[in-house]
Amino acid sequence: MTCCLLLQLGCCLLVLGSALAARSSGRKATVTGVVALTDLEFDSQVDTGKPWLINIYSHYCPVTQELESTFEGLAEALHPDMSVGKIDGTSQSGLITRFQMKGFHGVYHLNGTETRAFCEGRDANACEGKTLSQQKLLNFAKEGWKAVPPRTGCASPVSRCGRAVGNVAKLPAKAKATYFFLHDVRQFSDLTIFAGLLAVPVVVGLSFICLLDMYYSRRPLAHRQCRLAAPKSAGPTLLRCCSTSRAEASADAAATPVQQPDAAALAAAPSAAAPAAPVRKRRKADPVTPPPPASEFPQYVPRDFFRFDVLHTSKKSGARVGRIHTPHGVIDTPGFVAVATNAALKAVDGPWADAEGQQLMFCNTYHLILHPGADVVAAAGGLHAFMNRQRPLITDSGGFQVFSLAYGTVHEEVNSLKRGSGKSRHKQEHNLVAKVSEEGVTFRSYRDGTKMLLTPESSVEAQKQLGADIIIPLDELPPYHTEPAVLEASLAKSHRWMARSLKTHLSDVRQQAMYAVVHGGLSLELRHKSIDYLTSLPFDGFAVGGSLGKDRVDLFWLLERIMPRLHERMGAPKPVHILGIADPASVPQLVAYGCDTFDSCYPTRVGRHGTMLTKEGPLRVISGKYKTAFRPPVEGCTCHTCSTHSLAYLHHLVKAHEPVAATLLAIHNVHFMNAQMAELRQQILNDEI
Ligand SMILES: [Zn+2]
Repeated sequence: MTCCLLLQLGCCLLVLGSALAARSSGRKATVTGVVALTDLEFDSQVDTGKPWLINIYSHYCPVTQELESTFEGLAEALHPDMSVGKIDGTSQSGLITRFQMKGFHGVYHLNGTETRAFCEGRDANACEGKTLSQQKLLNFAKEGWKAVPPRTGCASPVSRCGRAVGNVAKLPAKAKATYFFLHDVRQFSDLTIFAGLLAVPVVVGLSFICLLDMYYSRRPLAHRQCRLAAPKSAGPTLLRCCSTSRAEASADAAATPVQQPDAAALAAAPSAAAPAAPVRKRRKADPVTPPPPASEFPQYVPRDFFRFDVLHTSKKSGARVGRIHTPHGVIDTPGFVAVATNAALKAVDGPWADAEGQQLMFCNTYHLILHPGADVVAAAGGLHAFMNRQRPLITDSGGFQVFSLAYGTVHEEVNSLKRGSGKSRHKQEHNLVAKVSEEGVTFRSYRDGTKMLLTPESSVEAQKQLGADIIIPLDELPPYHTEPAVLEASLAKSHRWMARSLKTHLSDVRQQAMYAVVHGGLSLELRHKSIDYLTSLPFDGFAVGGSLGKDRVDLFWLLERIMPRLHERMGAPKPVHILGIADPASVPQLVAYGCDTFDSCYPTRVGRHGTMLTKEGPLRVISGKYKTAFRPPVEGCTCHTCSTHSLAYLHHLVKAHEPVAATLLAIHNVHFMNAQMAELRQQILNDEI
């Protein structure tokens, strides 16, 4: 920055010097007699408030001498009502351009912003010295000019456009004058002048970059959760996505080994104090407008098409085994929810996943309204018919994708703070989110840049067209690094949006259940406030969203403290979904807190990147040690992949970049997640967790 300022100062001095040079190079002309007009001072010279008669000539012209006396006589005759000037066209090329001359001889009458020609350029006869008698010129100067059509606009050198043209045309003259001033008057060497000339674009460029940096460093950060475990030696870490969906984590994260929860780290977690989220910047908080009271809503009435039965609650923890009954079948809980962003799992056909025990799939409204469009899906008969799926579906509001695509991930946010930069995210934010207002969020489609408005009402209406069994109201995504006042305002807005969403939903329920999304970041006070408000409204279930901390320690610290209150306030049991977290290392602990369903694209994503999930940790199929492993990839696994192919064959497919490798590994991982859930359910039934 200091360098920038010094360069800017140098540039300013150079420009000032140039200006002084240009000014000092001209001589102030008198308005008496015939005034020699120049490129550099033409505008100030003719700015006398009186008309001008101007002779443009070439000093090579043989008639110049005889015309000189003619115009001197005119100057005396016309003074003081009119001024007379002359322009040497051979040296004042800028004025030749400005007068739009095609030859070097012309006589002009200037009055205000209008210009009239007595004779000019190729009209050689008219401008012939013998015909330019003083009397003819005198007549033209006094009254004759009125009979000539005026030039206006850019054709007139004294019009606004003509002045602009003149400013451009005299740049070479200015540059020449500046050079002679610096070289002859200031005694600068050519090398110094050349270096100074180069410095100008460099300084301008650096200044531009500095300004951009200052601007973006003051823009807000934001993110939302979409997590997956990526433990490191120092402790468990949650990586948050998503570039394409709530639960899609980064490819790098996919390659990171997954471990079981770090008991030592958990024990070391603060017992009461909230995990500290560093505040990166100050953002003005919106006024906190309370959401509509519960009295504006009807009492919750159990649905005949949606029911949650708790079959058993562990005597050891809050873990519970249950069944969610939906119009498209049962969801056993605790249950894994596979993410089908575009109404399809990545690399895995729906029936293949169903064969591995997949019950509930999570589709993203944001992507589906952009393509193929909610109306197209509705015309197909809804998502179930469009996908030909007979099992339950859940869709989100679309808000998560709007914000997360624009803001990037928590992982990126945390890393950008470490690097001291957040330019890529800021660039995305600037490009994709146009405006967040009380009405909703205006954003640009990542597909074609189309500007769109997503409101609580339009989100629910789109989800009605999609027709999933479970839908989610629109909410705002509070940043991880934010101030308490901003977080509180964001929570209030989310509550207002969810209330509007619920009203829209209740006006046309169809056979859909709606889950509220509990927000409040890492603030227990705000989380409790969110729980208290949302459980007072007639929602069918609850999801836990918003910022859940930077790592698994934060996550467990928060869930351990809010889940009891959520269960207590909801009264009759309702399902609880954890948005975007379903990694094998986190799920067992979350189940113990009484969480029921978990969505993540983690299993399919790591599968696409050559990793199989196992109880012993991730298995990197590409490793050379599996080249001759002619055995089932995972002993005891009953999935299609492990029942059909050897580990050596999968290793070969991955090494050969065969697309089917992604499919086979993802199938195993979906099976693994569902098998893990089944095992957890049995452990709960046995009161083991
Ligand atoms: Zn398998």
